[in-house]
Amino acid sequence: MSADFSRMAEILTMLDQSEADWIHWDVMDGHFVPNITFGMDFIRAMRPYTKKFFDVHLMIEQPGKYVEAFADAGADGITVHWEATAHLHRCIQKIKRKGVRAGVAINPATPVHILEDIINDIDLVLIMSVNPGFGGQEFILRSYKKIYEAKQMIERNGAKALIEVDGGVNDDNASKLLEMGADVLVAGSYIFKHKNPAEAVKILKRIT
Ligand code: ZN
Repeated sequence: MSADFSRMAEILTMLDQSEADWIHWDVMDGHFVPNITFGMDFIRAMRPYTKKFFDVHLMIEQPGKYVEAFADAGADGITVHWEATAHLHRCIQKIKRKGVRAGVAINPATPVHILEDIINDIDLVLIMSVNPGFGGQEFILRSYKKIYEAKQMIERNGAKALIEVDGGVNDDNASKLLEMGADVLVAGSYIFKHKNPAEAVKILKRIT
C-alpha cells in the first residue's frame, strides 16, 4: 500500500530482482479499517510480474467469506485479523484447505495470549505495530514486548508459527525486532520513501 499504484507492475518487476523475500499486500475494506485499498482482482492482475511469495494481509470484516477467492487470485499466505471474525478456527481451516499458509493478525490493543488455543494451527502470527488502516505511522514501542510474548508462546506450545511485524519497521528498529523474536519484517514507507527502494531492501536485509 506504500507503493505508487499507477506503477505497480513496474515496481513488482523491480522487487522481483531485489533481495525482498515476500510481497506484502494490505487489503482494506473501509469497514474493519477506515481506508479502502484493493481486492483480489488487483492481486490476481499483479501475480504475473513476480514469483515472490504473496503475503496477503486481510484487514477486512468477515474474512472467511473471501479467503478462497484470495487464494485463487494467487496468495501464497493469507493473514486474517483475530478481531474481524467470530469463527477464526474455521477460517484458518478454509485457508489451509486451499494449500495456502494461514496467519492471524492482532491489533495493538489485542493481547498475545488470546492466540494460545490456535497457535498450533497457524503458520504465522502478525503483530500490528501501528494501528491498521494507513501507511507511514510511527512504531508502537509496546510491540517489542508482544513479539517476545509471542515467541515464548510458540516455544511453550512446540508450535512452528513465524512471527511477522507490520508497521513502522525501519533500519533503526529492525535489529531489536529480530532480537525479540521476529522472523518476518514488513516494511512499507521505509522502502518506498527511499530514492532507491531495492537499496533500502538491501539495507534491511543486512541487519541481523
Ligand atoms: Zn499489513
